[in-house]
Order: sequence, then C-alpha cells, then structure tokens
Amino acid sequence: MLNLETSSVHTANPLADSGNPLVESNDPFGASRLPLYNNATFEYASSDMLAKVSKNMAFGYVYTRSSNPTVHAYEDRIRGMSGAMGVIATTSGMSAIVLAALSLLKSGDRLVSTGKVFGHTLGFFAQTLAGFGIEAVLIDIEDENALKSALSDSRVKMLFFETLNNPWLQIVDLRKVCSLAHEYGVPVVADCTLTPFAFFNAKKFGIDVEIISSTKIISGGSGGLGGLVLDYGTFDWSKHSNLKDTFKKSGKWAFLYKARKEILVYLGLIAAPYNAHMHISGLETLTLRANKACQNALAIAEFLESRSIPTNYVALRSSPYFALCQEQLNGQGGCILTFKLGSKERAYAFMDALQIIKIATNIYDTKTLIISPSDVIYPNTPIAEQEALGITADMLRLSVGIENVEDLIADIKVALQKADSV
Ligand SMILES: *Cc1c(COP(=O)(O)O)cnc(C)c1O
Repeated sequence: MLNLETSSVHTANPLADSGNPLVESNDPFGASRLPLYNNATFEYASSDMLAKVSKNMAFGYVYTRSSNPTVHAYEDRIRGMSGAMGVIATTSGMSAIVLAALSLLKSGDRLVSTGKVFGHTLGFFAQTLAGFGIEAVLIDIEDENALKSALSDSRVKMLFFETLNNPWLQIVDLRKVCSLAHEYGVPVVADCTLTPFAFFNAKKFGIDVEIISSTKIISGGSGGLGGLVLDYGTFDWSKHSNLKDTFKKSGKWAFLYKARKEILVYLGLIAAPYNAHMHISGLETLTLRANKACQNALAIAEFLESRSIPTNYVALRSSPYFALCQEQLNGQGGCILTFKLGSKERAYAFMDALQIIKIATNIYDTKTLIISPSDVIYPNTPIAEQEALGITADMLRLSVGIENVEDLIADIKVALQKADSV
C-alpha cells in the first residue's frame, strides 16, 4: 500500500486497465484527471453488449443510479487511501448512515448507539427507524456495564457511535468497545467524520464499517454534500442473521452487495457525480489541510487555556481524552474545540466582534467558523435538557480552518476584549 500523501493523489481509475495504481488515466485526450461524467445513461452499440453488462458478465456502466465512472473513481481513491475492502459513495453523510443501517436492520431488530451523536442521526434512529419497528437502545458508551447489557440482547444487530463526537469531543476507547461488540457477534458501525484518514486508521482499531460525511473535510471546504460507507472486510457476515442468505451467494461481500445492489439503488442514494468529482479534488489536499487545521486548533486551545478560559480540546494535556488522543488519533486533536465565556451575553459579544472567524454552522471547513451549540444545534431543546446533555448557554464551538494561526489568535484577542466590556 502506498503512503497516504501518495495514495491521496494517485489511484487507478476504472478506465485504466493496466492494473498499475500509478496510471491515472487512459482518457482519449490524455486528461491527467478523470473527466466528470455527469450523465444519467450509457449507450451501447449492440443489444448483446448491454445485456452482458446488465448481467455483470462484462464491465461497463448502464445507469448512474447504479454506478457511474466518476463516482467509481472517487470510491477507488478512498479504497486506496483507507485500505477498505469496498467503498460506497452516497449523496450525503446522512444517506451513508441510512444505507448502513438499512443494510443491517429489519423490523423487530435493535441497534445500540450512544445518545451523544449528531442530531439528525439521533432523529433518524429514534424517530424514523422507530416507525419501522427498529428500536434504538441509547446508552452511555463509557459505561461498560450498560454497553454489555445492551449488547447481550440477541435482537441487537448493530453498534453505532462516533469516534470523536461533536460538540462533546469524547473519544471512544475503540479496542475495548469493538472487542466487546465482537464478543456478542455485533458489527461495529462508526461515524468517523471528525477523525479523517490523515491521522486515523479505523481498521486498526476494530471498526467494521466506517461512515464519513465527506461534506466536511474531504470536500475541501463546503464543496457540496457527500457521504461514504467503507467495509473493512473484518466482520463475518455469515454470522449476521439479516445477511446470511446474501452471504451464500456473495460471501465476504454480503454487506456491500446488499447495500449497493439493493438499498443504494432502490432508495437512490448514490453520490452525485459532480460532488464526487469535487471531493476527489478535496482528497488530494486532505492530509495537508487536516494537519494544518489540527496544528491551528491546538495553538488556539493552548492560547485560550493560557487566558484561564475553560477549554475542551482532546489534544490538550488537561483533556481526559489526552491519552486516547495520542494512542488512537496519532496525537492530533481534530479541528473542533469548545470553550466557555461565563455567560451567554459575553459569548454573543465575542462572536459578533470577530472579523476573520465567521459565524456559520459547518465543521472541518477550510475557514474557521463559530457557533453557539445551545442556540444552533439545540434550538428547540429546553435549557434543563441541554444542561443534562452537557451543553451550556455560555459555550462556543470553534471549528478551526487552515488560515494563518496568528491572524486567528489576533482576531480572538480583540473579540475577548469586547466580551470583557459586556
Ligand atoms: C455533518 C455530519 C453528518 C451528516 O452529514 P451530511 O453530509 O450533512 O449529511 C453526520 N455525522 C457527523 C458526525 C457530521 O458531522
């Protein structure tokens, strides 16, 4: 396998037939990058050839809802970077979660998840899946007894969590949690959006299916929606009650087969070719941007802490997750930190005084962005419930970008003076 900086710019595309991963393209014009195939359908000179392709007896494309060369090239690039057995690119991070869940669960089943996950994920589990008879058992994943007792229910067909969750910034002890799930025969599906390939290897720690919202850092900065589902080939799908039959015809590909040939196609979840093309560009600078943003985030967290502002960032020595950050994230704390300014009024005066840092809700963008989680992530949740979730009105979430860090700290210094004058 190539090193990450190399595999993120070179991977075979489906038109390159030499088998050499460094051959980028056999485009008729020698385009150094696979052109964008933004078409819906593909023509064939003979009816026999279209029939063969439709029956998987020859390689080709038929209709973009099933597969498309640009999306395929993007998936191959991700496969080369991650070491996954197979990859499916979807319209959004949410549709990646829907795709994985509906490939593993049916009515009467249960999934186990932490309650502290992305709000729309929680809504999909607790409202939408519940309506189809699939129950989400929400637990505190750091409570080993609660996890064991939830997993011991034979109706449980999937464990879900985020490797680093937003805005709490907890790191799951992966070896412990994944091995426990495997003891109970439950596959581990983890949303790794906040721990990109640049500093995190999901397979090494026992994650079976990795979910990523590529809308975030992969897109290269607010470059359209996208999602990814990666199967590392580590779970024995013959032992999963809903995939046993699929396993008989497709073996270790059972999960990917059901996901791609059934759920992806029937629900129309495949990534838009235009977005896949954009996200290939993003991948080429992923490691550079991720490393720079993490360095910036650490410098800002250290600066805030030096001003005695309570700051939550997993690469800080004061974080309870410092050791797990070293062990699992190669010492990189990611792009998000939160801090508390003492009152909502001070927090708002601070945000409104910022010049370079923008008030916007995206994360892992090239630009540094700030919000109040209390008002923006939980606008309809009563304050008492927010506090139970660990969210307070004086808390701000900063998603750090790739700007010059001295400019960012200068912006923060001026805004802190404004907050102090409230
Ligand atoms: C943004 C996000 C999602 C949803 O992704 P979309 O691409 O917006 O659908 C899911 N999980 C996490 C952790 C996210 O940050």
